[in-house]
Amino acid sequence: MSRGFGPGGPHGRLKFDDDAQKANLSKALLLRIVKFFMPYWKQTLLLMAVLIVTAVLGLLPPLFIQQIIDQALPDKNLRLLVLLVLASLGTTVVSGLLGVLQNYLNSFISLHIVFDMKNQMYRHLQKMPLQFYSGVQQGEVITRMTSDISGVQGVFSSTVVNFASNLFILVSTAVTLFIMNWKLALVGILVIPLFIFPTRKMGNISWKLAKQTQEKISDQNQIIQETLSISGYLLMKLFTKESAEYAKFQSINSEATSLQIRQSMAGRWFMMVLSTFTSIGPLMIYLYGGYLFIQGELSVGAIVAFVALLGRLYGPVMQMTNLYVDIKRSAALFERIFDYFDMKPQIVDEPEARVIPAAGKDISFHNVSFAYQADKTALHGISFTAAAGTLTALVGPSGAGKTTVTNLIPRLYDTDSGSITIGGSNIRDFTLDSLRSQIGLVTQDTYLFNGTIRDNLMYAEDGASEAEMIAACQAAYIHDFILSLPEGYDTVVGNRGIKLSGGEKQRISIARVLLKNPPIIIMDEATSSLDTASEYYIQQAMHSLLQGKTSIVIAHRLSTIMAADQILVVQSGAIVEEGTHESLLEHNGVYRDLYDKQFESKVLA
Ligand code: ADP
Repeated sequence: MSRGFGPGGPHGRLKFDDDAQKANLSKALLLRIVKFFMPYWKQTLLLMAVLIVTAVLGLLPPLFIQQIIDQALPDKNLRLLVLLVLASLGTTVVSGLLGVLQNYLNSFISLHIVFDMKNQMYRHLQKMPLQFYSGVQQGEVITRMTSDISGVQGVFSSTVVNFASNLFILVSTAVTLFIMNWKLALVGILVIPLFIFPTRKMGNISWKLAKQTQEKISDQNQIIQETLSISGYLLMKLFTKESAEYAKFQSINSEATSLQIRQSMAGRWFMMVLSTFTSIGPLMIYLYGGYLFIQGELSVGAIVAFVALLGRLYGPVMQMTNLYVDIKRSAALFERIFDYFDMKPQIVDEPEARVIPAAGKDISFHNVSFAYQADKTALHGISFTAAAGTLTALVGPSGAGKTTVTNLIPRLYDTDSGSITIGGSNIRDFTLDSLRSQIGLVTQDTYLFNGTIRDNLMYAEDGASEAEMIAACQAAYIHDFILSLPEGYDTVVGNRGIKLSGGEKQRISIARVLLKNPPIIIMDEATSSLDTASEYYIQQAMHSLLQGKTSIVIAHRLSTIMAADQILVVQSGAIVEEGTHESLLEHNGVYRDLYDKQFESKVLA
């Protein structure tokens, strides 16, 4: 099993500077991007047509002005003058309307691509193994799903559309200028290299400044995250580090601020240099065009039109000069997104997988080994059988591998070697859905989502009736407590609802599993010490839960261990002893040790 996930791994988020340097718009990448556009090819074609028409329409007003100066005015032709002015106005209005259509198409295409990508990504991430989620940094998945994918909209509406529109404007203007007068067109074009160089230079400078600013801002965010979160805040307070943290924050803040000022000044200098260069073009046209006029080769109207059209040449050239930065940035964005799409869900149904009933069947581990990381085995040579309808307790020190054993049964991870069978069938022969639907998992840390208690319970079994739900809660010894809440079963819990104690949450979790009523129960008993009443209720709830089921419990309480049909003592990834409470005590080994050390607190491990 390859384990390529984890912070800093190949899928770790690239830094700003690496982004553009590593990214290249390869053919393969381009093809993949184009695939997302395919469903919208009609709209894309229409958009391109709109851009072409807009580019051509933009040429008309200067040409109308040329007619006004060269014909309407010298001929004192009022009708022609009005006509040309109206034509100019009409062109502007039509361009404006096309602009609205362009905007609509632009949003339609880009937002639909974002929509498709988000859906596909969500579906894909649902299939990723648990390992992926324990490996990625918090917030990374959200960043990919939200800002990265949403960034695609910007790529389309700024990079792609700008590029196409500038290209059309550039080509149409250049062709028109050459048709009007090729010598004058050459003069206008000769100036272009003059401002390409500073544009690139300044683009690079502001890119670097932006990169540095971004780094400072992320440093700043890290301090905020570390010191203004609950545990970081406590650490800072308890070690009286407020002043030191403040000084650090202030210094990074001031660096970020001065970088931002430099960044905005770089923009200004850049504009100044450029406006000087761009004004050289028209001056040259006046000079050379004026000379041609004096020679009788050119009209005044043509000179005016030429200068006006020149603006349509220089603007797009400048915008396209730094396009490569945008293209690289966009390529990096798509690469980050595709990186995620390329991660293979490793645990999937085998081709021959079937729905197999597990009720009344033994669960057996056959010489199972497993490692989270290639070089560090978490389990080795684990073999045992949990007979149908019996309770198996796993005990052992923290980090021994107990949770890992339980995670392998619902295939949250797959074994590296050896096998796990239920009633003699390898769990890989079950469809994942059928396997997991037959296992009830009660973890220590019960997750209740934001919703009512009823919603949280029904999550286990959509079709359950009210009576079944109440029966499950009664069996889990939580019904009376729920009724005592302000809105009973309709009380909102979870992050925006009322807070429940650990014991109450675990009982709700037990009720949830009771409602699902699976033949196999896997439970991680709470380690936290509970008050006597909670302890009693949990024990009663567990009694209901485990009755008649094949259960594997990571046991922390003596009562559970005593009730177990077999106890497996796990140490350093192996089963070192097995037996019943009495036989193990007699054996005088690891179990006896654990028992002697921890029995007083009634909590084992
Ligand atoms: P227990 O439940 O007995 O406390 P675990 O099964 O949780 O022990 O852990 C067994 C070993 O595997 C420990 O060394 C632990 O650090 C390691 N481990 C557990 N979960 C992961 C994980 N997601 N990634 C890498 N190592 C892990």
